[in-house]
Amino acid sequence: MKDREPLKDYKEKRDFSATPEPSGEVKESKDEPIFVIQKHDASNLHYDLRLEADGVLKSWAVPKGPSMDPKVKRLAVPTEDHPMAYADFEGVIPEGHYGAGTVIVWDSGTFSNTKGDDFSLSDNLDEGHATIHLNGSKLVGDFALIRTKRGGKRPQWLFFKMKDDYAKPGSDITSELPNSSKTGHSLKEVEAEEEPADLSDFE
Ligand code: MN
Repeated sequence: MKDREPLKDYKEKRDFSATPEPSGEVKESKDEPIFVIQKHDASNLHYDLRLEADGVLKSWAVPKGPSMDPKVKRLAVPTEDHPMAYADFEGVIPEGHYGAGTVIVWDSGTFSNTKGDDFSLSDNLDEGHATIHLNGSKLVGDFALIRTKRGGKRPQWLFFKMKDDYAKPGSDITSELPNSSKTGHSLKEVEAEEEPADLSDFE
């Protein structure tokens, strides 16, 4: 879908007068490319992996989230490209809107292509095989994203830790470190912050 207007799907799915999510523009990082993993308490709790490529955040929904254990390979389902500004987004998407529910930044940082700086992540993703080195506050080390099923509407990928000195066999990082890497807040706290104050006691 390279020829389509960037972020078209993202914008079509959302009403920016109703959602606090950024409308966003195409924009590249000045230095190293960035990644973010958001924890999203929508109809089903999941994690959204986003990697900068070509001025947008390429995105996958990862139902069970990342793991630092190389034996644990997690299903990752591609979703629409998101604007770069989305990397900072924490908040509550209102009921009745696309992706309704609370979002926190579970981890973020920069990454490099382990194949080398001359390789394009977009090309690697088109080929269905990318390996990246993440420098996050929780996730560090080499990770792989491998397309296992092309499927027209529902292609599937696997996202997993590669074996290196950062790998933690047997660990369960999403349970060990559940909160926002940005604010330390839990999903519940972010949800509570956004709820309008109950004024009924003052009436
Ligand atoms: Mn999501």
